[in-house]
Amino acid sequence: MIPGSFSYHRPASVADAIKLLSSLGDEARPLAGGHSLIPMMKLRLASPDHLVDLHGIAALKGIHRDGDRVSIGAMTTQHELLASDEIARSLPILHETALLIADPQVRYMGTIGGNVANGDPGNDMPALMMTLGASYRLEGPNGAREVVASEFYQGAYFTALEPGEILTSISIPVPAAGHGYAYEKLKRKIGDYATAAAAVVLTMSGGKVASCAIGLTNVHETPLLATEAARLVVGTSLDPATLKQAAAAAVAIMAPAADARGPVEYRKHVGGIMVTRALTRAAALTK
Ligand SMILES: Cc1cc2nc3c(=O)[nH]c(=O)nc-3n(C[C@H](O)[C@H](O)[C@H](O)COP(=O)(O)OP(=O)(O)OC[C@H]3O[C@@H](n4cnc5c(N)ncnc54)[C@H](O)[C@@H]3O)c2cc1C
Repeated sequence: MIPGSFSYHRPASVADAIKLLSSLGDEARPLAGGHSLIPMMKLRLASPDHLVDLHGIAALKGIHRDGDRVSIGAMTTQHELLASDEIARSLPILHETALLIADPQVRYMGTIGGNVANGDPGNDMPALMMTLGASYRLEGPNGAREVVASEFYQGAYFTALEPGEILTSISIPVPAAGHGYAYEKLKRKIGDYATAAAAVVLTMSGGKVASCAIGLTNVHETPLLATEAARLVVGTSLDPATLKQAAAAAVAIMAPAADARGPVEYRKHVGGIMVTRALTRAAALTK
């Protein structure tokens, strides 16, 4: 299908983008890689009158290590994440997850900012950002603010972004040296969104889990942190009984929609399996 008509704007600075979005109001949307927004417009699920293209804003690009955090500009593409030595070194789970998104064509255009700001429960980066304890810098007509990823998602396609605000960068604490990590994603085929996926970041000490965070993708209307499941594994050696309890605790908070990827019970069941696999693989990496 062909999208409805719209006016195109290409500001050169964050300040100009905010001015445009504020003055054009509800009918204006930021455009990043366009690989979620344009398909929605083609399906007429979104019909913005104005697109504010962020590609002309150099300040929204780049990956920088600053002490114990990595800062990523919102317009950094998924391909650029994969090509970055800093990401491979400091945040290998981000590299692993980006590689599981769609296909090279989508990753050349799709941005990390668009992926996390979109609010689609099927996007892979939001649950990962929650698992890593990331925060988002939002800039708008009333200035700048930081929102932690775990407080950003309010419902399917509803986020903490206020009118006129854009997400300008993401700040991620670098996990401890020697940490274990895994992003396990079940999808029907290459290029599909997750039927269910789980992110795990953990540390081990003396054969026992010392710290753990677990995030879940596409098993609820928002990404989830499985805090009870993570609590259950801390202090254990991840024996089979503990793995089973942790998977059950994660499944208990899942509420996926029944869709072409399967009925609710199936998606919860495979969600539990993704948690078990991610925990097991993350722990094995620390040995
Ligand atoms: C065939 C196909 C398969 C895909 N499979 C997956 C997959 O498996 N996993 C996955 O995670 N994604 C998948 N995607 C989506 C892809 O990763 C998108 O690129 C991503 O979701 C959105 O990023 P974008 O840069 O394209 O954003 P856009 O499509 O340009 O924007 C998405 C939304 O975010 C808003 N927005 C964008 N940037 C900002 C900003 N800086 N501040 C505020 N609001 C902003 C826009 O207004 C829009 O509402 C797939 C896409 C396609 C076409």
